[in-house]
Amino acid sequence: MSQQGYVAAPPYSQAQPGMGGYQGGFRPGPAQPNYGHYGGGAPQTFQGPQTGGMKSPPPVSTPYSPNNQQNGAHPQRYPGAYGQPPQSPAYDSRATSAPPPPMQLTNQMSAMNMGNYASAPVHQNPPPSATSLQQPFGVPPLSQMPSGPQSAHMQPQSSMPMSGPPMGHPFPGAPPPHPGGSGGFQQPGPGPAGPPGYPQQAAPFGGHMAGPQPGPMGFPAGPPQKKLDLDSIPSTTQVIDDDQAKYGGQVFSTNTRGQVPPLVTTNFTVQDQGNASPRFMRCTTYCLPCTSDLAKQCQVPLACIVKPFASLPKDETPLYLVNHGESGPIRCNRCKAYMCPYMQFIDGGRRYQCCFCNCINEVPVFYFQHLDHMGRRVDFYDKAELSLGSYEMLATLDYCKNNKLPNPPAYVFMIDVSYNNVKSGLVRLICNELKTLLDTLPSEQGADSSPVKVGFITYNKTLHFYNVKSSLSQPQMLVVSDMTEMYVPLSDGFLVNFQESRAIIHNLLTQIPDMFADTNESETVFAPVIQTGVEAFKEAECSGKLFIFHSAMPTAEAPGKLKNRDDKKLINTEKEKTLFQPLKGTYEQLSKDCVAQGCCVDLFLFPNQYVDVATLADVPSHTGGSIFKYNNFQVETDGEHFLQDLRKEVRKDIGFDAIMRVRTSTGFRATDFFGAIHMKNTTDVEMAAVDCDKAVAVEFKHDDALNEETGALIQCALLYTTISGQRRLRILNLSLRCSSNLSELYKSSETDSLINFFAKTSYRAILNQPLKNIREILVNQTAHMLACYRKNCASTSVASQLIMPDAMKVFPVYMNSLMKTAPLTASTELSTDDRAHQRLSVMAMGVEDTQLLLYPRLIPLHDMDVTNEALPAPLRCTEERLADTGIFLLENGHSMFLWLGQSSPPDVIQGLFNVPSLAHLQGNMCVLPDLDSPLSKKVRSIMRDLLEKRPKSMKLQIVRQKDKPEIMFRQFLVEDKGLHGGASYMDFLCHLHREIKHLNI
Ligand SMILES: [Zn+2]
Repeated sequence: MSQQGYVAAPPYSQAQPGMGGYQGGFRPGPAQPNYGHYGGGAPQTFQGPQTGGMKSPPPVSTPYSPNNQQNGAHPQRYPGAYGQPPQSPAYDSRATSAPPPPMQLTNQMSAMNMGNYASAPVHQNPPPSATSLQQPFGVPPLSQMPSGPQSAHMQPQSSMPMSGPPMGHPFPGAPPPHPGGSGGFQQPGPGPAGPPGYPQQAAPFGGHMAGPQPGPMGFPAGPPQKKLDLDSIPSTTQVIDDDQAKYGGQVFSTNTRGQVPPLVTTNFTVQDQGNASPRFMRCTTYCLPCTSDLAKQCQVPLACIVKPFASLPKDETPLYLVNHGESGPIRCNRCKAYMCPYMQFIDGGRRYQCCFCNCINEVPVFYFQHLDHMGRRVDFYDKAELSLGSYEMLATLDYCKNNKLPNPPAYVFMIDVSYNNVKSGLVRLICNELKTLLDTLPSEQGADSSPVKVGFITYNKTLHFYNVKSSLSQPQMLVVSDMTEMYVPLSDGFLVNFQESRAIIHNLLTQIPDMFADTNESETVFAPVIQTGVEAFKEAECSGKLFIFHSAMPTAEAPGKLKNRDDKKLINTEKEKTLFQPLKGTYEQLSKDCVAQGCCVDLFLFPNQYVDVATLADVPSHTGGSIFKYNNFQVETDGEHFLQDLRKEVRKDIGFDAIMRVRTSTGFRATDFFGAIHMKNTTDVEMAAVDCDKAVAVEFKHDDALNEETGALIQCALLYTTISGQRRLRILNLSLRCSSNLSELYKSSETDSLINFFAKTSYRAILNQPLKNIREILVNQTAHMLACYRKNCASTSVASQLIMPDAMKVFPVYMNSLMKTAPLTASTELSTDDRAHQRLSVMAMGVEDTQLLLYPRLIPLHDMDVTNEALPAPLRCTEERLADTGIFLLENGHSMFLWLGQSSPPDVIQGLFNVPSLAHLQGNMCVLPDLDSPLSKKVRSIMRDLLEKRPKSMKLQIVRQKDKPEIMFRQFLVEDKGLHGGASYMDFLCHLHREIKHLNI
């Protein structure tokens, strides 16, 4: 150890926002540190991550026992990742064509014994423990529905009487299930043709295109005599309301191992007391089964959805930055895990035992500190890395490419100036916007200006570079027409500081629309545009982002040229998957080049027809980029919608050139990763950039038994470059419980995370498997998870009742909604590009976004109190909740509708639109007039608030009941039957119930 006498600067002496109160305890904050006030277990006094509770005293371990070798136990350090030959040459085997997900799904399938038909005897009179639901059909008093966790105290499950008339025809028209599990739940094939000429562009992401009016909801063929009442089946809105009522406005302290956080929809404040905030990490279950046998038995996926740059609300403390100076972060010698609250100091503080691999490490001299009588370091509260679940560490040169500190990143704006984009007014719109938008480039907190450099390129079938050096009087244009080998024709003046070159950039942005005003060029290139960006970053030795505004399929002679391969005949065949697979070759190599350089690609598409999104969006989806799509773009109706997206995208929090590693304690490890990522080997998750909306799902598998005493630990470390060019590590730690009792696992499961994981695994499986198989697997796994609960955990198992764990009681509605999404719906009515777009977008989504996408908010506006600040309570997404006299807002994070009932009161219509009746409204409206009425103000403020919260902007569509475009709206009523096939929620539950009874597990 060096004798330089280096003393780590006390991390908390740095000026950091919101850190004021952190001295010898936790910030008093808005809420009292009401430690352990909720979550399992009895209230306990907070003592930090308890020596006994979170990590039991270290057994003297044999540091190099082979059993300790696990994911994290690789000898190389992070920096090594740059210099190491890839362990697997396969190009991102994760996200393109690798077998893992289907294999996994298939294995799960084969693990099930689907063939046994022995149904449990039907009891007409279930035991008293289930009495709360012994109501005749149709008369289910809401108060008796097991709702919210209060039932967890007594019996953590929900049960519904599912026998009776509907049982005879749970799936009218469907053939009986075949032994072997492949039959039963039938997804209808391609739906009947929709209304011809229906405007396809109106179907944004998230749903189905035009289609037939749905038939009667519920039980279409031969309605049962007695229909199950909607209120008798678990309600998502009720679950959300209950959680909000219980935890809303409270502080969630992360001091308890395996504590299940409130729902993503609940407004709560997080207080970091040793575990990472659920905003950063959310698990499918907070209690892992002790053995792999138990995991196989229940089939509940073990996964964590990590959103490393999640935005924090203003009342939560930003992450502390730990700086150990030249010594760099303190890490375990063996597994390279970073210092964290779970490391166990021993030997008077001279050594510590790694909580991940059990290796005993020396404490570096500069880091030595005495222990108190509890065995805890006396500087426990002074060091973020000893007391918090999440923090940042300043990285040293070892963590930088070529041992050189990185330069700040650059943003390059690349505008397609072919005929369509010029004619639509898009080019002028973008140029005008950039003049002001560039003043809001991201900067470090407190800094006067942004360190991000900017550059500009226009292109059609040639590329035009612009020299915008501040010393020039006019911008200079350089044209490159040879597309075979891309290079940047100017070494100085391409990437500049906006503030310094403001005048000349303004000049350029004014000139561009005029320069191309008379263009007839309709052909474009695409791959060379990205390649140029990579070359520019290489030359400038920086990372950064390309903002590409592109309209058509690249058909000009150049690498990456594409041709139309959209073939509706492939739908519902073995080859349907090829529609989702990107073309290999040029784009595959481009992704690798981009990731190696830290070049993230954001793609803004403005197509009038098929453009092969699967291929064009391949690079963005491997580089942490976002994909936006504006079909048949018109400045008047879509301009503002697009500009809002662009503004968010330019301003958002983001890290560049990132590499993430997930380490775990012994007994289990991270085996698979899903996201807008690139996997160079099996453990390092590479992202050219990662922003506040991107999440990576991590799946875990056992490789040994887990210990109930010690629990399980996950440490996620993200190495990245900040906007000002600083190299940092963001460390997130989470401790989970372990149990041999499956009830604990079910009780600690998290439906929103589960559905995020299922969405990602099934959307990846689309690349390899027929959709029919995937949907069957989803149904079977859902049935299996619930059947295992029924068999092993339920206090009653009356065959006539569908019994579900309380924490999963609305899981089926999400699952059913997932199966009805466009990527999983084989219908020729849907646009191939829209399906590909949704598939890729969901792969990078966080838990909040998939929750909202799969269960939209339906908000009644007609009877709200306009003086009340609060948002009216959302209703269940079903036709049954609509009213002819009502006005409803529906949004799912991607689409927003204002639905007007045909008998809407005239005063409401007057207040919103300033016309006497609905008949006076124009068709295709997408803006609410700016009126002074209290109702108009309130509705517009609700919409503004929602748009503010969502990662992407939403175009408003105003639809009148029974008008043709209403069908667009109805597809989002996810509890009803799907427009292109897919069961109603009620039918799906009946079907699940039947499947569960047939399972013999
Ligand atoms: Zn270790």
